[in-house]
Amino acid sequence: MDTEQKLNILAESSRFDLACACKYKHEPGRIRGPEGRWIYPASLPSGRKVFLLKTLQSNACENDCSYCPFNRAQNIQRCTLAPEQLARTFMQLFDANRVGGLFLSSGVNGNADTTMARMIATVELLRKRYHFRGYIHLKIIPGADALAIEQAIRLATRVSVNIEAPSAERLSQLSRRKRFHQDIIGAMSTIKRCLDENNGGGSQTTQFVVGAAGESDREIVRATERLYQKFDMGRVYFSAYQEFSAAPVTRVSSRGLLFDDLYENAAPESAPGFIREHRLYQVDFLLRKYKFSREDIYFDDNGNLSLESDPKMVWARLHPEFFPVDVNRADYEQLLRVPGIGPIGAKRIVRDRRQGRIRTLKDLSSLGVRARVAGEYLALPVS
Ligand code: SF4
Repeated sequence: MDTEQKLNILAESSRFDLACACKYKHEPGRIRGPEGRWIYPASLPSGRKVFLLKTLQSNACENDCSYCPFNRAQNIQRCTLAPEQLARTFMQLFDANRVGGLFLSSGVNGNADTTMARMIATVELLRKRYHFRGYIHLKIIPGADALAIEQAIRLATRVSVNIEAPSAERLSQLSRRKRFHQDIIGAMSTIKRCLDENNGGGSQTTQFVVGAAGESDREIVRATERLYQKFDMGRVYFSAYQEFSAAPVTRVSSRGLLFDDLYENAAPESAPGFIREHRLYQVDFLLRKYKFSREDIYFDDNGNLSLESDPKMVWARLHPEFFPVDVNRADYEQLLRVPGIGPIGAKRIVRDRRQGRIRTLKDLSSLGVRARVAGEYLALPVS
C-alpha cells in the first residue's frame, strides 16, 4: 500500500475522535473539509480557524474496546504509517496550503509506549527536521509512560487522553484491558502536573463515548464537572456511540475508502444518540458559559436529559417565577437565563441599552438574539 492509500484508511478511522477543537455547530466536530475525509476545519484554542490533517498513525490495535470498529477482534485491513512517511506527507499538504495543523491519534500497535514512541518520532521530525511551528494535537495513549507524556507535551501544542466512560465500573463494561484509574486518570494527572510546571501554559481535553456502556446523562455530567475541576480541562467532548457492523471488510474500495461498507448503514445524525450528544454539549455550555450549576440541570427518572427540549428551555419552563425578565433592567446573568439569549446577545443588550431603551423584538434581533423565542420570556416596553 502506498502512503495515500494508507492515509485514506487511517484518516477515515480517526473520524470518531472529536477532541480536536473542531468547529462547534449543530453537530460538533462532524464537519468535513474540502477533501471530505483527511482534512477537517477546526477552531484552535486561540480562536484561529485552520484546516487540520486528522489521522491515525496506525489502526492496528491490541485493545478490545467493544465500541470501537478497530478493536483487535475485527477483521479489517490494518496499516501503519512510518513517522517519516507521515511527516513528509503532512509537510507536502502544509506546503501546498491545504492544512495548517495536525491531529494525530493511533491504535495501540505493540503497547502504549511503542505506540507513543512512533507518534512522538513523527512530531519530532515535524518540529526538528521540518521546523514546523504550527498546531499539533497529539493523543496520549492510555497507560503511556510519564516520560513519554512529558516529551509529548514539550513537542505538541495540545495533548489529550480520552476518558471514554464516566467511571471505572462503566469502562470495565467496554474494555477488559483499559484501566480507568491507572491508565486514563493517571495520564490526566501527569498531563496536569506537566502543564502546571510549564507555568500553566496550555490545557488538556478529553472525550466520552456516549451510550456504549448504558451510562446515564447524569453520570456523564457529574464526571464532566469533576474533570473540569480536577484537571482544568480546556474542553470535554462527547461522541455518540455508533453501532458498527462486525462483517469482515478486507478490501480498499474503488474510492480508496476502506470503511464505506462498514458505515453505509450508520445512523443519521438526527438519531437519538446524536441528539443526546447534542444535549450534553448544551449542558457543557450552560455550565461553562451561562453560569448554570449542576442543580439547574434537570434529568428524568432514568437520569437522562430531555431529547425533546434543550436543557435551558427545560429550566425556564420549571421556573415561571423567574419570568418575565425586564430586558432594560436585568443584569447579565439574568439575561443569560432567557431562552434565545446567549452570552454575546446578553453582552450586547447590556452595552446597547446604555444608549437608549430596547423597545421591540426587532431591536433584539439586531443584537443577535433569537427574538421570537426570547420574546415569550421578556418584558418589553413595546411587545
Ligand atoms: S484503544 Fe483505541 S483504537 Fe484500540 S480498540 Fe480501544 S478505542 Fe479502538
